[in-house]
Amino acid sequence: MSYSITFLGTGGGRVVVFRQLRHSGGMWLTFSDVNILIDPGPGSLIRILERGFEPKDIDIFILSHRHLDHTADINAVLESATESTKRKKDLLISPSDALLECDSVVLPYLRKGLKKLESIYEGKEISYKNIKIKGLIKHIHRGADTFGIEISDERKRFVYVPCGRFFDGMLEGYPENADIMVFNTTFVHPVPNIDHLAASDVKKMLLKLKPKKAVITHFSLQMLKSVPEKVAQNLSSETGIPVVAARDGLRVDF
Ligand SMILES: [Zn+2]
Ligand SMILES: [Zn+2]
Repeated sequence: MSYSITFLGTGGGRVVVFRQLRHSGGMWLTFSDVNILIDPGPGSLIRILERGFEPKDIDIFILSHRHLDHTADINAVLESATESTKRKKDLLISPSDALLECDSVVLPYLRKGLKKLESIYEGKEISYKNIKIKGLIKHIHRGADTFGIEISDERKRFVYVPCGRFFDGMLEGYPENADIMVFNTTFVHPVPNIDHLAASDVKKMLLKLKPKKAVITHFSLQMLKSVPEKVAQNLSSETGIPVVAARDGLRVDF
């Protein structure tokens, strides 16, 4: 059994993603023997193939929220993974506002390629084989319902903190002592009126939640200028928790 996460891309924020200063395309999570593609933003299909993964090996698709930097390539990957809907995939999970009939990020004709669409919300639990996928606290993230996500089995617990503005409820709304936490850490310092986490917020969460390991990703230009590796190093020394700055293609075992 292996547990690893590969960062297909690490860009976040309009400039970095839509000028591809860092790749985008989400994360490939291998959890026990289940392959999960999380947040397939622009270029995901290319990055999957480039990293030597096979789209047809994906078991579950997870969209943390409907924004384009997290969903732009879902249709291309679905087309590839399902051989144009001929080989159905088991499960796609997303907040319900990403799958509205009138405004779905998944093209209607491709839904035939999925056995099941599940919406995620606070407290929702979805079982798949021997793993459990759980919706955590609702984030403040303008224009898109967004929830924290926990994936666990009897051995390991992976926690994803997607995009959103920090608020104190997040300190209670996330579980303690996860094996790994991935934080979409767009900024170094919070930017007023932009609903994204900053490294100073991540520090508060690490001190309270004490995961065994943490990764920061989804970087804006502000973060890239401050050098994510340095920011991660500071977080490590301030919290005593090993924090890694993701690079495009980085694989982290946990
Ligand atoms: Zn977003
Ligand atoms: Zn985002």
